[in-house]
Formats: sequence, C-alpha cells, structure tokens
Amino acid sequence: MRAVVFERYGEEAEVREVADPEPAEHGVVVRVEATGLCRSDWHGWQGHDPDITLPHVPGHELAGVVEAVGARVGRWRPGDRVTVPFICACGTCPSCAGGDHQVCERQTQPGFTHWGSFAQYVALDHADVNLVALPEEMSFATAASLGCRFATAYRAVVQQGRVAAGEWVAVHGCGGVGLSAVMIAAAAGARVVAVDVSPGALELARGFGAAHCVDAGAVPDSAAAVRDLTGGGAHLSLDALGAPATCAASVNGLRRRGRHVQVGLLPSPDGTTPVPMARAIALELELLGSHGMAAHTYPPMLELVRSAVLRPDLLVTSTIPLAEAPSALAAMGTAQGAGVTVVEPWN
Ligand SMILES: [Zn+2]
Ligand SMILES: [Zn+2]
Repeated sequence: MRAVVFERYGEEAEVREVADPEPAEHGVVVRVEATGLCRSDWHGWQGHDPDITLPHVPGHELAGVVEAVGARVGRWRPGDRVTVPFICACGTCPSCAGGDHQVCERQTQPGFTHWGSFAQYVALDHADVNLVALPEEMSFATAASLGCRFATAYRAVVQQGRVAAGEWVAVHGCGGVGLSAVMIAAAAGARVVAVDVSPGALELARGFGAAHCVDAGAVPDSAAAVRDLTGGGAHLSLDALGAPATCAASVNGLRRRGRHVQVGLLPSPDGTTPVPMARAIALELELLGSHGMAAHTYPPMLELVRSAVLRPDLLVTSTIPLAEAPSALAAMGTAQGAGVTVVEPWN
C-alpha cells in the first residue's frame, strides 16, 4: 500500500510503498477512504509525543470500509462503513469497565502508538469495542472529522462542560476543534463568544453560530473582553488551541463557579503549564480535561448530525490526495488554518 512515512522528527515525510497491515485477532484492517489532518499529527511529527517510534505513519481521524477481520471479532464484517475514536480502548480495564473508554489504561491510538491512517489501509485494535457504524447518508470526508476534533469538541462542550441553554460559552481558538465547539454549543442553545487572532477564523465562527467574536490580536486583554461581553464572565470556557496564553485567558474569562475545559494539547519541556489557580480558588472554578470520546457514547451525537442539527460537513474546507499530505502536515505548524483538510489516500 501507499503511505506517508517519516524517518526523523521534523523532516519532511514522503509517500512510499510499505507492507499492507494485518489485523490482530481482536482487530480489523480498514480501507481508508478519508482521514483528517490535525494539529496532533503535527505535534507527533515534531517529536512531542513519546508514544511514537520511527519510522512512523501519522493519521488518526479516519473513516473507511472494513477490509479484513481478526478471528475473534464478532460485530463487524468486510464491507461495513465505519469510523473510530482516535483513542482505541481495550474494553476490559477498570476505566473501560466503568464506561470511560476515552481514558482506557491500555489504549492504542492509530497514528501514535502504531502506524496511522495517512495510508491506504490501517489496522485498528479491539474492533468490537471501538468501531462505530456510519449512517448510510454520511460521507467519509464528514465522518473523518468525527473521530478526533468533532467528537472531542462534543465531549468537551456536552459531556465534560455540561453546557445548558442560555449559558455563555467562550471558545478560545477557532481551528477545527474550536469551530466544532462553537457549532455544538450554539446548537445546545448557548450564547457563544469566539476568540481567535484570525479574522477569517472568526468569520467562520460567526457563521457557525457565535453571537460575539473577539479578535485577540486587536484587544489588550481577551479575557477582559469576554467578561465585558458576557456580563461578568462565561459559564463555560474552552481552550481549544492549547497554549499557555489561551489556557490562562480561558480561566480568567470565567464567571464565579464557571467551568474551564482544556481541549488543546499543552506540550512543554517539563509537562507543566502555568494556570491562574488563585482565580480558580477565589471563584470556585472547575478545571476539567477532555480527551476524545468513547465509541459507545457516539449515538446521540450521530443522531444530531443525521438530523442536520450539527453540520460537521461544513467544517471540511479542502480535500487533498495522499501526495500532498507531507507538505500539508508541515504547514500545520505555521498556519493553524480555519476548517478541516481531509486526505483521500486512494486519490
Ligand atoms: Zn486529531
Ligand atoms: Zn481499557
């Protein structure tokens, strides 16, 4: 098969022929029809993810068709249209037994712990636990965005953030996951304040339902701008970018008893990030993390997509062939980009 391979961190990847994957006993091989390009792939390529060993094939936001099935897989057959959360759970550890597959103690992640979906085929573990059947009318390109950004945004806003109609929700960072969060919060009846340094991203956020937009490059203090617009602060605020400044702005833009959800990754040399904890204490803030979403919690989200209340298809702004994936991966470092680029490995 053809795959995007890199041999060294930060050096341009190349498309080359590699061996086809084989399914594990509990796993499947999926023919990849579409796979999203994500900032997490860029972090992995830069060497920020300790799970990766070289040479490596990135890619974790995929949709496709089951090609081959391991001997112990019961629920899936070749030809099934599927997607998968980017965190593949074991199904049997204490976290999985409690339903929290997104923090599985023995999780695997395509594109991180093993070769991913910037390839014509990808192997996925524990298929009976992790695969999600696609509604017939959903395109592969749309479905590819569900496994990481859209599901992550859904969990951050709905499951972890506990959004309620009428609340103020601030979203710091309007890339793929931030725009998804804007759409999901607006659909839940919240009033959304979108914050970004890119006027283009803010324009998209307004189209996806943001009531107010804050150009963080044009105001001295974006947290103060959020507090002004919301009559004292947001009830729920997300750092959807993942940077010390946006994390702090999200926490500082909350009202009393507000909830901050950290969605964007925060890599740092010592694994720590400064957070305004004095404000968290004085205002009794909740600080939460959000890490993917369990496959078994997908049905309510898929139903909202099927009924067009949520429109992840609108987030897909470009589709490229596999040959263009290496340069697009490299470009993720400088241009956060508004919207989602989908790679089609058979083109
Ligand atoms: Zn992703
Ligand atoms: Zn587990």
